[in-house]
Formats: sequence, structure tokens, C-alpha cells
Amino acid sequence: MVENYVFPATVSAAVTALSTNRGRARIIAGGTDLLLEHQDSKNLCDVLVDLTTIAELKNITEENGFIRIGASVTHAQAAKSEHILKHAPALAQACSKIGSLQIRNTATIVGNIVTGNPAADAAVALACLDTTVEVTNLDGMQTMPLADTYAGVCLSCIDSCCQVVTHVHFPVKQKNQGSAYLRMEQRKALSLPMLAVSAMVALDGDTFDWVRLVIAPVGAGPQRALDAEEFLKGSLVNAENMAKAGQLARNHAVFRSSAIRGSKEYRMGVLPVFVERVLQAAVEDARGA
Ligand SMILES: Cc1cc2nc3c(=O)[nH]c(=O)nc-3n(C[C@H](O)[C@H](O)[C@H](O)COP(=O)(O)OP(=O)(O)OC[C@H]3O[C@@H](n4cnc5c(N)ncnc54)[C@H](O)[C@@H]3O)c2cc1C
Repeated sequence: MVENYVFPATVSAAVTALSTNRGRARIIAGGTDLLLEHQDSKNLCDVLVDLTTIAELKNITEENGFIRIGASVTHAQAAKSEHILKHAPALAQACSKIGSLQIRNTATIVGNIVTGNPAADAAVALACLDTTVEVTNLDGMQTMPLADTYAGVCLSCIDSCCQVVTHVHFPVKQKNQGSAYLRMEQRKALSLPMLAVSAMVALDGDTFDWVRLVIAPVGAGPQRALDAEEFLKGSLVNAENMAKAGQLARNHAVFRSSAIRGSKEYRMGVLPVFVERVLQAAVEDARGA
């Protein structure tokens, strides 16, 4: 049962509050995942450490060639941020699809990562942006690639009882680069995606210089479609090659049939179409269309 709810003023005070309570305290951000989990498990923690009053965690900034997002930034905030719209349309598009207006106003991007859900929209978009996670504990700050934070389906390597993710960051978008995000869902609100794809492309004239293509939910965390990425590198930007990449993305998709998310055959069938569309949208962004 939660007996105490604390509002530290600094990251250091948050880490101290976790340490003082030795595994019985836990970070809470928007609480949209944690409180449901707490209700189910009944006895998850005794103390909740709320980050929302720490000023430095509330902002989205551009610093030294990177976009940096604080741990208290909500999906609604990101979806309309000038920095995100300019440098990471994929993330703005993903954040604008999450849950409902109420959920987007409360839930955070960092919470979406730490919760470890392979279908988490913001995390799938961040995966194509080459995102790094900044983690602080009693020993100091360390960084890790987003992909390394996943320990299994709905399991994170981040231990919210002793570690605080303070920010995530990714490189600013260069000229001739673009990104996009697409999801297929049962309803337009309050529904996790049945299929989500994100792409970042770098163009060199009429060819792809490189591509990062991500698909979900097909495993623990967002998965890179590496065969498709390899094929597109140096290929002409045309409909035929994007269609071929869609077929190659299937090599990395292991769907499970689910009453909520649809059959594996259906999702395997629509995957190439979504890959083609997300690549086309990312190319349009890169060309400033
Ligand atoms: C009705 C409903 C609809 C939803 N629809 C969607 C949807 O369409 N798409 C989607 O992706 N998600 C959806 N979600 C899930 C949810 O809103 C997101 O995963 C959300 O982004 C989690 O963020 P939060 O701030 O609420 O995290 P919290 O619930 O506060 O925390 C989640 C986990 O992360 C840990 N944590 C949070 N912040 C930190 C930090 N800075 N450092 C260390 N640990 C931390 C917490 O301890 C906890 O374990 C939905 C949820 C609900 C209730």
C-alpha cells in the first residue's frame, strides 16, 4: 500500500528518496501505466517519487546538435512541440495517436519507454531516431541506446526503484533526412496499435543514403527490419524498391495471433503496405514536401 508520496525538487533528491526507501519506493510520472499495475499487484511499493515538480525535466530543448526531451514531457506536449515537429515528425505523429486527449495530457514519453510495452507508440518512433536514454542513480549518470533498455516483453532494464531516466536525446534532423510513423489500430482512440512502423531516411539525390526502419509489436521492444534497411542503402528512391523493402521487412516480423491485435496472417499481409507508406512519408519529409 502506498504510504507516502514525495515531490523531490531535484534529480539528486529523487535518487536519494529511492535509495532511502531501499526498493520500496518507485518513480511515478503520469501514472497511466504504474497505477494500473499497482492496482493489479496490490503491493508494488510503499512510496511514490513524483518527478513532475523537477523543473529541468519538463522541457524539450535543442542542445549541441541533439533534441533533448525531459522525463516529465507528456505526449501532448511533444505532439505540438516546434522542435519535435521540425526534427522528428515520426515522434509527433506517434504521440498524437496515443490513448485519448486525457491520457496524452498526463502520460510521458519516458514512461512509455520504461513500461517496456513492445507496442508503445512513442518508443517505436524514438527507435528510428537513434535515441539515447540518460539514466541517473547514486553512482552518477550513464547513457544507453534505447534498444538496450528492453529486457523482455513489458520488461525494462531500467529499475525504477533505484534509477531515474532524466532525459532522452536524438540527433537533430539534417538536410535530406526525414521521418514518419504509421500505425494500424482497431479504433481511433484508446487502443494500442495492432501494427506500428516508423522510418527515418537520409537521401543522397535520387538514392537512399541510409534508412532506419522499425516494426512493432513483433518482439521485446521495437525491432529493426535490417534486411530491408540493407537493401535500401544505395537503392534508387522509387515505388518498386520501397515495395521490395516491404516484402523484406517480413523477415523480421514474428507476429502472434491475438484476439485484440488480429491474426498473425492478417498483420503479416498488411505489413508490406505499411512499410511502403511509411517510407514514402519519410521521403516526402526529407524532400520538404
Ligand atoms: C486508457 C489508456 C490508453 C492508452 N493508450 C496507449 C496508446 O494508444 N499507445 C501507447 O503507447 N500507450 C498507451 N497507453 C499506455 C500509457 O499511457 C503509456 O505507456 C505512458 O506513456 C506511460 O507514461 P506515464 O508517464 O503514465 O508512466 P507511469 O505510469 O508513471 O510509469 C510507467 C513505468 O515507468 C516508470 N517510470 C516512469 N518515469 C520514469 C523515469 N523518469 N525514470 C525511471 N522510471 C520511470 C514507472 O516507475 C513505471 O514503472 C494507454 C494507457 C491507458 C491507461
